[in-house]
Amino acid sequence: MADRRLGHKKGCIMGKTLSIIKPDGVARQLTGEIIARLEKNDLKIIAMKMIHMNLAQAEGFYSVHKERPFFKSLTEFMSSGPAVVMVLTGENAIVRYRELMGATNYKEAKEGTIRKDFATDIEKNVVHGSDAVETANFEINYFFNSFEIVA
Ligand code: ADP
Ligand code: MG
Repeated sequence: MADRRLGHKKGCIMGKTLSIIKPDGVARQLTGEIIARLEKNDLKIIAMKMIHMNLAQAEGFYSVHKERPFFKSLTEFMSSGPAVVMVLTGENAIVRYRELMGATNYKEAKEGTIRKDFATDIEKNVVHGSDAVETANFEINYFFNSFEIVA
């Protein structure tokens, strides 16, 4: 079966992914540091804005996790303060950005990843990144219209 996730082959097509600097990252003034890491790693920002989601907007974004025990806490956290949402592009963008982020649980994240360096909690893990082409498309369209994404 074909692997539908982008980026398992080197030299594969350009992709797009949604990045969020979560409310903990923004509150801790990590926005610049995180953006610098994206740019140093050839992930190009083609859309960006700061938003403060309400609870319903956070629930809609994370609806895939609605049956999970952490859903209430996660959506309250995501709506607790401003976040920076971005669309990133680059070769194998989805996979390369997830590598830069590190594992969901920062205790299992590799050295030098954003979550290893900055996360304080499995929930408050500083950044979000799409995990597949389909989710990236849903997530990008959730926050941005076509006029907000540069060519
Ligand atoms: P990722 O953000 O690495 O794609 P998931 O999609 O599995 O991870 O989970 C979405 C978010 O939910 C995580 O980034 C984290 O903020 C939170 N989360 C995941 N697992 C847990 C957990 N066991 N307890 C609390 N929060 C969690
Ligand atoms: Mg996820």
